[in-house]
Amino acid sequence: MLLKKFIIIVTSFFVSHLTDAQDSLQISSEDLKLYPLLFQQTAAEYRALCYQAFNTARMRLDETLKQHPHEKNLAIITDLDETILDNSEIEAQKIKTGKEINYKDWINWLNKPDLPTVPGGVEFLQYAGSKGVQIFYISNRNVKGLQITLSILQKLQLPDADTSHMLFMSNDYSKESRRQMVMKDYDVVMLLGDNLNDFMKVFESRSINERLSATGSVKNDWGKKFIVLPNPVYGEWENALFNYQDADSLSVEQKIDKLKAVLKGF
Ligand SMILES: [Mg+2]
Repeated sequence: MLLKKFIIIVTSFFVSHLTDAQDSLQISSEDLKLYPLLFQQTAAEYRALCYQAFNTARMRLDETLKQHPHEKNLAIITDLDETILDNSEIEAQKIKTGKEINYKDWINWLNKPDLPTVPGGVEFLQYAGSKGVQIFYISNRNVKGLQITLSILQKLQLPDADTSHMLFMSNDYSKESRRQMVMKDYDVVMLLGDNLNDFMKVFESRSINERLSATGSVKNDWGKKFIVLPNPVYGEWENALFNYQDADSLSVEQKIDKLKAVLKGF
């Protein structure tokens, strides 16, 4: 009898504590990025993928230079965020503090002496620059913040770090017209990016299946003309998950429901 009473007390203790723990488990939308951010910041596999991308880029560039030894008009178009610059600390800080980053903190972070970069990226661009290839930075950072980014590119001693080589976003989210501007005057031998919108317009605002099929339609260009860096945290692939609906307007529960609906099981 005493034993039975003891078991009931112990069981009810654990059940009530388990329920408390479940009640107190609150996940924010930012928390959904925990695993991908840790992949970017801690996985040696992420680092190896970046080195793999830039080693491939260097091999391709060397081949092109060998084939066109006297060509003076060669250029590379590169994206910046998550292709050359690593912004994961901003998103990580939001998870750690549970707060949005204010403008002052963001500027302080940008002025850090050891701003993180994507492994291998700075070295590759410096190598290409040393071979006389012009580098154009096509970024969807707003053109209003061009000077801040320019000072970062200069601090990193990146080649062609000047405003004539930086085509930032003014009102057109698409990078296509900016790519065409460069291609009009230069022989663009390679494009670098973490978002397939960095390469071709065909990936913009398309469904998951349309993006997958467009990737297959140019499958021989990946690792040749197009060098892709991994970005598990954000990008057009994420917009496609939510059908280009404003994900910020969704609650975390709504987001999880939508994500699970896309997930393939058997
Ligand atoms: Mg990017």
